[in-house]
Amino acid sequence: MIAVLRAGCTTRAKAEIVRFVEQAGLRVVVSENDGRCEVGVAGEGAEALAAALAALPEVEEVRPAGAPYRLVSREHRDEPTRVKVDGVVVGGRALAIIAGPCAVESREQLAALVPSLVASGARMLRGGAFKPRSSPYSFQGLGRAGLELLAEARAAYGVSVVTEVLGPEDVALVAEYADVLQVGARNMQNFRLLAAVGEQPRPVLLKRGMMATIEELLLAAEYIAAAGNPRIILCERGIRTFEPTTRNTLDVAAVPALKERTHLPVLVDPSHAAGRRELVPALAYAAVAAGADGLIVEVHPDPDRAMSDGRQSLTPEGFRAMMDVVRQVATAVGRTVEEAQPHAR
Ligand code: PEP
Ligand code: MN
Repeated sequence: MIAVLRAGCTTRAKAEIVRFVEQAGLRVVVSENDGRCEVGVAGEGAEALAAALAALPEVEEVRPAGAPYRLVSREHRDEPTRVKVDGVVVGGRALAIIAGPCAVESREQLAALVPSLVASGARMLRGGAFKPRSSPYSFQGLGRAGLELLAEARAAYGVSVVTEVLGPEDVALVAEYADVLQVGARNMQNFRLLAAVGEQPRPVLLKRGMMATIEELLLAAEYIAAAGNPRIILCERGIRTFEPTTRNTLDVAAVPALKERTHLPVLVDPSHAAGRRELVPALAYAAVAAGADGLIVEVHPDPDRAMSDGRQSLTPEGFRAMMDVVRQVATAVGRTVEEAQPHAR
């Protein structure tokens, strides 16, 4: 519950209101919003105090507290947030298409892949240099060498680079090379990492944890916003359910549900939800139809030899075919896929 105080309310009157609430055994948070003083009241029985608070002369209005994630909420900002990444806008009418391998493996891998991704409509390249793997014996990524290969690909093919950061100690390094820092599902509630990406200026792609609720995802985004970075892109990537046929269960409803609650753009990752390339296109179409602002998709030039997530990676040809239909679905729901300008650098 929030008591909004009258403009020009004195410090003494504020202190009296705070004392009044604390004497009732409730907690108080005093904040400024648009130049107005607001007294948040929390605790058991807070509502019972509403009438008494409203009757105080310095209180203009008492209203129920809004969402616990204030900065990223629709109440705070109704306009959709557009996150600009170089020439690409995430959250505008045009869908943001991010594609690339699960992990960066070699220069040859990117050379065999990236031109075709761009030709098919991707404007941003994904690829992990630091990989969060379930097994310590699996390929962990090329680290700094992988970041350098991504930066080379950006220069050669004119794509922006999206890559994952695993820990707060790597944020400065990854931000040197990446255009967008990805916080993966396993790290969605790594609060130190959220604060660290919130303290630097690059946009953050925040993936939903595999066991996280929509509210928890929004609270994780709030950590980043509260640390000072409003350039946040959310990503639904499937949640863990009882169903073993797919790797995760894509929560398509999360897209419109998030859009009701937040002004932030929402992408969908059909690859980690599907777990098998055969299912990826259908999930991508569903995502676009449901109002996603774009897709992040795994594509590999030779998926059977991929060092991670080959089973769910599309071939470049499969990606091209999928994008042809994505364009049609986009048109049906009033969106577009903007093509990359021919690039010469
Ligand atoms: C990834 O994008 O390669 C990845 C590890 O995704 P997630 O964090 O969604 O599992
Ligand atoms: Mn992957």
